[in-house]
Amino acid sequence: MKKVVFFTDENKIREALDNFNLKGFENKKIPFKLHMGEKGNIYFPKTQTVKKVIKALQERKIEPFLFDTTVAYNAMRHTKEGYYELTKMHGFTKENIGCDVVIDDKGIPVKIEGRDYEVAEHLYKSSHIFAFSHVKGHIATGFGGAIKNFGMGGVTKETKRKMHHGSRPVFQKDKCTYCGVCGEVCPFNAITVKENTWNQNINKCFGCGVCVENCKNGGLSYKDADIQFVLACAAKACVQDKNVIYFNDVNRIARGCDCDPDAGPVICPDIGYLMSDDPVAIDKASLDLIYNIKPNVFEKYNHVNPKKQIIFGEEIGLGSSKYKLIEI
Ligand code: SF4
Ligand code: SF4
Repeated sequence: MKKVVFFTDENKIREALDNFNLKGFENKKIPFKLHMGEKGNIYFPKTQTVKKVIKALQERKIEPFLFDTTVAYNAMRHTKEGYYELTKMHGFTKENIGCDVVIDDKGIPVKIEGRDYEVAEHLYKSSHIFAFSHVKGHIATGFGGAIKNFGMGGVTKETKRKMHHGSRPVFQKDKCTYCGVCGEVCPFNAITVKENTWNQNINKCFGCGVCVENCKNGGLSYKDADIQFVLACAAKACVQDKNVIYFNDVNRIARGCDCDPDAGPVICPDIGYLMSDDPVAIDKASLDLIYNIKPNVFEKYNHVNPKKQIIFGEEIGLGSSKYKLIEI
């Protein structure tokens, strides 16, 4: 059965919400999962749009609070204190948005496909969640939407670290042809290939897996697993058995993520907003709308096929890639 994805603009967010059964959400405090942007990034969600969605939920007797987790890399969002400071800098305050803001460090382990993922306690304990996901490119996963908002954004920094470490390359000497492609695509210049020598500077390696994805000779394998596979699994750990409304902001589509201070340029014109109760369907619809205008634009800029997270997501039962787009 095809999942429904609603396609709307900023003035019809209330109308789009009317298509969901909100009864179970009413009179509950629910996490409004939102990446509030790293310091220096200019493409993160607009406070006026977030405010509109929050207001529309509050008008339906729902009590959302902005929610996000700390990150593994060294930046302001690495600590709760730093992230709270950043929420103020970016305008995500109670005074401005009209609801509480919570940043959480604690996690509860959930096993998916044989691996443990520490899900943020606030998500784990909530039966109902609203996910606001800004769709944009990403250095490791090609693009990021609803799956990434939970798969990386809904877990603790220890789990984030493990997911990245598991996507590091393991060199297979007998298969390497020393073509140099892995060194060319590595975004962190962590690999050097010279005549019959292959070297990696592990201190520079972020664990994005781009080198493994681009080696066509079997010269590299993942230390543990493809980051897009563990991303889909971690997303499932966060949302399985929960009632979630997914809202994708398909605008300001930059090459890089909102965690990247240097995420430019914008690589596709603005498209609009999508809503669904299926994270795989909404991300597939977002990607299709982008690729209708700019075919394979994320492969071009990030050297990664972002459809893998959708395929893996469908395989592990996170959602369905078959959808019907309804314009509101
Ligand atoms: S891309 Fe693969 S085959 Fe080419 S140098 Fe790197 S590891 Fe070797
Ligand atoms: S995993 Fe990413 S950062 Fe590490 S060597 Fe490969 S391409 Fe470079």
